[in-house]
Formats: sequence, C-alpha cells, structure tokens
Amino acid sequence: MRPLDQSSKLKNVLYEIRGQALIAADQLEADGHTILKLNTGNPAVFGFEAPFQIVRDMIEAVPQAHGYSDSRGIMPARRAVVSRYEQEPGFPHVDPDDVYLGNGVSELITMTMQALLDEGDEVLIPAPDYPLWTAMTSLAGGDPIHYRCDNLNGWQPDLDDIRSKVTPRTKAIVVINPNNPTGAVYTREVLEGIAEIARENSLLLLSDEIYDRIVFDDARHIPMATIAPDLLCLTFNGLSKTYRVAGYRSGWLVITGPKAHAAGFLEGIQLLASTRLCPNVPAQFAVQAALSGIQSIDALIAPAGRLHEQRDAAWNALESIPGVSCAKPQGALYAFPRFDPEVYEIPDDAKFVYDFLIAEHVLLVQGTGFNWPTPDHVRIVTLPEARVLTEAIERLGNFLASYRP
Ligand code: PLP
Repeated sequence: MRPLDQSSKLKNVLYEIRGQALIAADQLEADGHTILKLNTGNPAVFGFEAPFQIVRDMIEAVPQAHGYSDSRGIMPARRAVVSRYEQEPGFPHVDPDDVYLGNGVSELITMTMQALLDEGDEVLIPAPDYPLWTAMTSLAGGDPIHYRCDNLNGWQPDLDDIRSKVTPRTKAIVVINPNNPTGAVYTREVLEGIAEIARENSLLLLSDEIYDRIVFDDARHIPMATIAPDLLCLTFNGLSKTYRVAGYRSGWLVITGPKAHAAGFLEGIQLLASTRLCPNVPAQFAVQAALSGIQSIDALIAPAGRLHEQRDAAWNALESIPGVSCAKPQGALYAFPRFDPEVYEIPDDAKFVYDFLIAEHVLLVQGTGFNWPTPDHVRIVTLPEARVLTEAIERLGNFLASYRP
C-alpha cells in the first residue's frame, strides 16, 4: 500500500502536554502501576467538583439541546457573557454579536489563527507559552515569534524584547494572563507597554484570560481590553478552569475595540464558526448558570482555600531543593521551577521527564514543551492535595541529585 504520512502542515505542531511521556505513563498504568499525572490542568481528576447549579442547568437543558444552535452560540449564553463583562470596570462595550462560544478556548484559538494568518505572517507569542498558541500559529501557516518573559522579574514579559521582534509581517501579539505555565499575573505597566507596542504597529491583541479568576495574594488580574479599548482585542475565556468543567468544552471569545479596518478578518471568524456549525449545545447551557451563580472559585483561592494552600505547598517544597528556584505563582494552576544549570546537568529535558516518570511514577512536562528555549525547567500542575504535591516534589528533589555533575 502507498505509505500514508501525516500532513507536512503538522511539521511544527507540538503539544508535549500530551506527548510521548503520557503514552509511557498510560502504558505503566495499563501494567498496573499508579501514576501521579501532573501534566494537565484538569481539576476534575483531582477531586474538584463542578458547581451544582451548572450541572443541574445542563442536565435540565439536555432534552431541548439536541439541535444545532446559532453558530456564535445560544443567545442566553452570549448575553450572560456580555453581562459578565459589563460588571468588569473599564471593559469596553460588548454586543452579543461580538461573542463567539466555542468547544473550549482551544477551538476558538484554532479558528482565530486560521482566519488571521497567511503563509509567513508573524505572531508574537510569549516564551514560555501555553503551547497551543504556537502550534495553531504554525498550523495556520504563520511563524510564531517568541518574546521572552523574564524569570528574574516574576516572569513578566520583556517589553524591549517584544519591541525588537516586531517586523512588517507581525500581525498580532498574544498575551496569556494569568500565565500558563509560569503563574505570572501581569502588571498594569507591562500591559500598558504591550498595548503601546500594538498601537504603534497596528497589531491585533489576542488575550488569553482563562485563569483570570484564579489569582492569589495581592495579585489582581487586569483585562487587556480595559487597557486598550481603542485597539481591536480578542479576549478568550471559558468554564474549564474557574468552574472546573474542562470536560464540557465550553469557552468564549469576545471582540472589543474598532472593527471597521478588520471586517475581512472578522468575517473569516464568522465563516469558520459557521463551518463548525456550532459548539456543543448542552454545554452552552452551562454558561449562563456559571456566570450568574455564586463564584465558588473565590473560596478555593482564599488564603485557607485548597488552591491557595496547594500553590504554597508546591512553592515551598520546590524552593527547599538546593539549586531549584521558582518565581512564586501569582495565579493559574502551575509552578514552573528552574533547575540551576550550574548545579544540575540536564542536556535533554524531555528525557529527564521520561526518566523521572519511569523512576518515580510522576508525570511532569518539560519546559521546552512550552517553547522555553533551554532544558532547565519543568511544569508542575498544582491541583493535587498539598500532601501529595509535597511528596512528589520531594521525590523530584531526590531524583535531581543524580544530575549533579
Ligand atoms: N489557554 C490556556 C492558557 C490554557 O491553559 C488552556 C488549557 O489548559 C486553554 C487555553 C484551553 O482551554 P479550554 O479547555 O477552554 O480549551
């Protein structure tokens, strides 16, 4: 038979969060081992329950949810998104027609990049990043250009680096705030700096704010659209993290700012929304219940809350390993520690993660899987109970000892 290879479009499409190490972890599980999988930010598998009202509303809606809906999504859900942003001080006006629901933020990122990019167009994306942004830029024919976030400055984006990487082919700047994988929450100054670069160079702002309600201590999330109401800005968010229903695949995209100059691009989004017909309809009924109900995430991020305690436990355990440092995560569900190259010799971080899995039955993701350029970081999901996290990180510390030259 004629060999059937994958499309060359996939050449630069990487998603190591579910890469080779996960295949090995699944095999170990099939062989009867217990594996602690710290590779995905999936709250449900660590005992986080979905808020009752959301589940109830979706179940009640199922008997009427068997038809296709409007391609943008059902009106009550889009209205709920509009009123959510009306309550956000300084957020520009949003019309229900400026809201697109999607099968998770993931689908909306894919649609946006497909609608936006021609071969060779450039998109500025943080390093490290949530790797879907890089992957979908590549799949759409664009060139992901990574700007550095500074680990010595709490992983804030380096504005000079962003500025130096703008070219005539740059179309957009991606902002992930609060950040996956670093847990950074961006300051107003940094966001204003990014907006200024976008303003000067007529760039589209793409702001992934899926962790906006998961912030700790004094950190405050500032929506990009409030900083740049005069610029075209697409804000991405959804139910997966704040409402712990990642499996429902429910997200939204909100368009703000001037649109006249971008009519073609926005028609492209509408076209792609139509070609996927509509997002999963039962899950759309979860949106209104989620956004208008009690924000139960607040109890989890409060100082005595589970997510807060786990963030502290992970950070304390990491900082107590010699040669390991970690900017304290101010938001999201991850820690991204650094292994000092003067202390540990790790030539290949994918191999390191694989070897740690085999030795200790804990699955992490290597930093290069987040488009970080050097093999000196891993990402740890901070969703397990504090005791489990502390023990896993102690095992990481013991395992690291064998990497001292
Ligand atoms: N954006 C970021 C920064 C994420 O961390 C994730 C999931 O981990 C997503 C988007 C995808 O979210 P969804 O479940 O809505 O597709």
